[in-house]
Amino acid sequence: MKLRFLGTGTSTGVPEIGCKCEVCTSSDPRDSRLRSSALIDDGNTVILIDCGPDFRMQILKADVKKIDALLLTHKHYDHIVGIDDLRPFTSAKELPIYADRETEMQIRSFFPYCFYKVKYPGVANIAVRSVVNNTPFKVGTIEVTPLRVFHGMMPITAYRFGKLAYITDMSYIEPSELDKLQGVEVLVMNALRFSKPHMTHQTVLEALAIVDKIKPREVYFTHMMHHIGLHAKIEKCLPPGVHLAYDGLEIEI
Ligand SMILES: [Zn+2]
Ligand SMILES: [Zn+2]
Ligand SMILES: [Zn+2]
Repeated sequence: MKLRFLGTGTSTGVPEIGCKCEVCTSSDPRDSRLRSSALIDDGNTVILIDCGPDFRMQILKADVKKIDALLLTHKHYDHIVGIDDLRPFTSAKELPIYADRETEMQIRSFFPYCFYKVKYPGVANIAVRSVVNNTPFKVGTIEVTPLRVFHGMMPITAYRFGKLAYITDMSYIEPSELDKLQGVEVLVMNALRFSKPHMTHQTVLEALAIVDKIKPREVYFTHMMHHIGLHAKIEKCLPPGVHLAYDGLEIEI
């Protein structure tokens, strides 16, 4: 199975508009981060995780021919607002979108025309399927287990795919949910900045405490802001097997 990071930035993206810090003006392409999203491909089934405002540019770059399902983590703008650009992937058949109830309501309010009985020709042909915590489902040949994590006070969805898990926008995970990550070999997890705490996102230091409990072989941080620091510099400070992801990075699981 292959995972491609389409975007690894927080909600503002990096560079942040108007900022002249060393990260926002860096010439290292790894310091430019579109909004967080990833593609999983096992050679048969292609799954998109989240679909934010940069989706069109991300998918053109990735040169993807098909998407079998979209898995959404939560209702925020930076994770769902690219849904209208899924149209080329829904012309042949309906695209299932897996989402919790809150996220489904947000999609219906952002894109009501996709749910009209009589639709305008060419609108995205999508169908929302409810995600229930801890109830696995299959997309083609890939088994998916949704897990619940907290984004501030809001419960959101993380996904486990066998030895791989993808967690974004988390600030807290209950011990019972953490147990369900045991055996994960490749863990993708959000880390907003290095050490200054945030209400709704964990930091690198907080993420490393989770890594200590799960002990995956490889860890990739995503959903980073410019205050994380220069990619080249921070990457060197991380323990073995722990990396900052970057846009376009592909990993084998
Ligand atoms: Zn986000
Ligand atoms: Zn900056
Ligand atoms: Zn969010």
